[in-house]
Amino acid sequence: MVVKSGSKSKSVEAQEPLFVPNANDASSATQDERLYNEILDAILDHRLSPGIKLKEDELADIFSVSRTVVRRALLRLCHDRIVDIQPNRGATIIQPDVSKAREILRARRLIERELVKEAMQFATPSALDNLRVCVEGERDQVRKHHVGSGLRLSGDFHVQLAQLSQNTTLIGYLKELVPQTSLIIAMYQTPHHTLCSHQEHFDLIDVIQSGDVEAAQSMMEQHLDNIEAKLDLGNERTAGDLYAAFAHVK
Ligand SMILES: [Zn+2]
Repeated sequence: MVVKSGSKSKSVEAQEPLFVPNANDASSATQDERLYNEILDAILDHRLSPGIKLKEDELADIFSVSRTVVRRALLRLCHDRIVDIQPNRGATIIQPDVSKAREILRARRLIERELVKEAMQFATPSALDNLRVCVEGERDQVRKHHVGSGLRLSGDFHVQLAQLSQNTTLIGYLKELVPQTSLIIAMYQTPHHTLCSHQEHFDLIDVIQSGDVEAAQSMMEQHLDNIEAKLDLGNERTAGDLYAAFAHVK
């Protein structure tokens, strides 16, 4: 194949359409991911509250996607224990109670104390830079008052940090707990309080970089303690409306 300067990408695309058969799959996966993030952000942003029914036909209409895509996104949210799916009743947002919230945070303290220690063995400068980029994304969303996506990205930071370790078992447990924690924070956080503080995430990365394992473990525990200490138990919310929650899409 002769590739002339300046026309390389066009020539390659024209002669090697290798990815075409997978294009629909890729686009469908992207749609799933987008819908998952949109619904999760709306829940974490209080545009959707526990009790509201997530109707497949309405979501398909709002996001102009097939009901299959909606179903896949809802199944993933169900797997993450954000929504509950019952036969003939459809999907509803889960309302974790306070004792469940405390149980999850207790489990996270145990798991993440160990994970941060194991992650430090593999925390290269470039891995830590990637973590900082993750926290910058979280900070940017919070500054734009996109509370839902800020909260989701703060959860991503904990997962990304854990993934530096090689402990796939504990990473698996943490991945189960993080979305539920985000839901709990969204439901019970004190107004105007950023519970999973991005500044604490930056500080944690600095301590990890210093190599002081005990200090990093203490800081992680303190960070999770701070979240629990600020839970507000009297913060009831009412169910919303799917079209109002996603008004920016249509
Ligand atoms: Zn955090």
